[in-house]
Amino acid sequence: MLPSDDDDPISWIACSRSHNNKPCGRLFPSTDRVANGGGSQTKIPKWCQRCRDQRKRYRSGAAGQAAASREKASGGPRKRSERYRNSDHGKAAIKIIMNSDAYRKRQRERPRPIIKRISDKIGKMMRDGSLESDSVKANTVFVDNDDARQHFRSTFEAWMNWSNYGANVADSEYNQRWNVGHRIPRALYDPRSPEDIRRSLSKQNLFAQCAKKNNEDLQHGLLLSDSALLSLRCVWPIRFTSLHQLKMQLSAARVSESESESEFEGVFE
Ligand SMILES: [Zn+2]
Repeated sequence: MLPSDDDDPISWIACSRSHNNKPCGRLFPSTDRVANGGGSQTKIPKWCQRCRDQRKRYRSGAAGQAAASREKASGGPRKRSERYRNSDHGKAAIKIIMNSDAYRKRQRERPRPIIKRISDKIGKMMRDGSLESDSVKANTVFVDNDDARQHFRSTFEAWMNWSNYGANVADSEYNQRWNVGHRIPRALYDPRSPEDIRRSLSKQNLFAQCAKKNNEDLQHGLLLSDSALLSLRCVWPIRFTSLHQLKMQLSAARVSESESESEFEGVFE
């Protein structure tokens, strides 16, 4: 039955796919490898080549695409990915990827929206204390490092200080670390508009925010009262002309301001 004899160094694995209650069971060589996640890692497949090809065809076809968007809309993949990322197994896998040269290279070279880029630079100014960035000077009202630090210090909550600046650490409690928060989220601004960039990075809009809250999906703007939102009127994205309009967009845009973890969204099955 086995396609190999005892001298053959290749062992064979039985396909574990069950389709319409019929197990496949075809054998494939244990040397087969498939991509694992979004990186360059591979793993031993569970299915035979034929089943893998079949699934590939289905997924790229109309029916498969429609099923995928239904599934996505249900929030299933997102929850699965979150469970995985928070598991010990998932955390270990993420650590390996994040420490790989390939990942670092991709991070360095990936296009980042200008507002995110400048926000990160402001964060660097907070962290290192010495960096003076031309793009920060050109796009924000901060004249120098001291100016930026002074601004964020003026928005500190009691527990915040210069030694607990940083990105959220998984599983940590609230109020452990802080980083650059946007009262009206970056995603609502038009990155092609210099005026929108300026507004999104204005002192009125930037504040020291608990990193865990910053990472959460809930928009900070949704927590603000109408009068607080109205007091930010001069830094709203230009296209909004009424409070109603702004609030509609705040609740529609469920955008994570996460600094690191969100990019793993959907990477793992
Ligand atoms: Zn199969």
